[in-house]
Amino acid sequence: MKLVVLGAGESGVGTAILGKQKGYEVFVSDKGAIAEKYREVLLNNNIPFEEKIHTESKIIDADVVMKSPGIPDKVALIQKLVKQGVSVVSEIEFAAEYTNNQIVGITGSNGKTTTTMLTNHLLKKVGLNVGMAGNIGDSFAQQVADANSDLYVLELSSFQLDGIVKFAPHIAIITNITPDHLDRYEYKFENYINSKFRITKNQTEKDYLIYDYDDEVIRDWLSENKVKATLLPFSLVEKLDQGVYLEDNNIVVKYKTEEKIMSIKTLALKGKHNTKNAMAAAMTASLLKVRSNSIRESLEDFEGAEHRLENVLKINGVQYINDSKATNVNATFYALESVKTPTVWIVGGVDKGNDYLELMSLVREKVKAIVCLGVENQKIINAFSNVVDLIVETAGAEEAVKVAYKIAEKGDTVLLSPACASFDLFENYEDRGRKFKNAVRAL
Ligand code: ADP
Repeated sequence: MKLVVLGAGESGVGTAILGKQKGYEVFVSDKGAIAEKYREVLLNNNIPFEEKIHTESKIIDADVVMKSPGIPDKVALIQKLVKQGVSVVSEIEFAAEYTNNQIVGITGSNGKTTTTMLTNHLLKKVGLNVGMAGNIGDSFAQQVADANSDLYVLELSSFQLDGIVKFAPHIAIITNITPDHLDRYEYKFENYINSKFRITKNQTEKDYLIYDYDDEVIRDWLSENKVKATLLPFSLVEKLDQGVYLEDNNIVVKYKTEEKIMSIKTLALKGKHNTKNAMAAAMTASLLKVRSNSIRESLEDFEGAEHRLENVLKINGVQYINDSKATNVNATFYALESVKTPTVWIVGGVDKGNDYLELMSLVREKVKAIVCLGVENQKIINAFSNVVDLIVETAGAEEAVKVAYKIAEKGDTVLLSPACASFDLFENYEDRGRKFKNAVRAL
């Protein structure tokens, strides 16, 4: 059998290695340049590859094609393969075939990485050998090839889910659904919603779907579609018959038994959104027989993920927070909601069709000045010039931090939460966050 891997990134190279281990004849093709570290892995494993080109004749006779999540379905080559009846799948689909371990799959528009890391932390604490994959660490396929985990916790993007056929996680989590990546979904929110719900399409009665009960998009979809898995919602506002909810500010997990886990006051991660992430992780751990004491300890000592509401430093009584991963309005909404003091808000970058109206009341309430950090800032200026007196444009992290430093007074917060992608001025959101942190440390 011939496996062709399109795209030699983390997931592609992992799939190539797993494919070779399982006896496939493997060929890797990348239309761009392959990063040095991946080229070395391919060479060391004697896996033939090409870069900066897709040679159709070397691809078209494949039995299975693994497509990197970055390649849209509408690309001519993919269309042609599908038309010929070639199975075009994602890394997750390919790799899941080769493991019998239980899988926790986590998707949603925001909170995937945080919930994945939290869940991993909760399960590791009780000695489970967890294979965590997604945007974090080694690819799932590579970890399946290494075969030294007891179970997997996977962060799943909608693009990964678009390429599944039989993949069925034992426990699925949908953190929330808000418009994102619509350029890949014919600008139809409905298509994007359906893509997220693919996570449950192959689940059976023995499986679980954990989701945000307070999210109307999710609830509407569930009222119109049948799901085989047991539904375990979590809610900040309603007491539920089954699932996770709050009682006097305590997190309660209820499924077959009812257990009070902890007060939300002692959660390591702050903000309502993180309480929801904690609820999803706690429900998962509870299903996997982790005791509530252990869940509580883990949720108290979790150190947080870089670039997600990350406290950087306090200088002259001003708290600097790096939320560079906030690349859409919804993420920034929660960031602004979680800050407690007058805030100098650093925002901007590549706008993905943002509707800033959603932030208006929070900005009015909390933001004393806006520092724009993008090439094109007019939309932000137009949106907020009526509610914020001071708006300054800057063209780099260092300049933005210096301007914010001058404006902020003792007791204030300086928050980088851009609500935009980073590609105009930075390599990616990590680069943006790191440059921000370096600039803060240099103050
Ligand atoms: P993802 O992996 O889905 O992009 P992350 O955990 O990396 O999610 O968080 C991305 C951004 O969204 C961060 O700015 C974070 O503070 C914010 N965020 C985290 N969890 C949630 C949530 N449940 N709802 C809304 N925003 C969230």
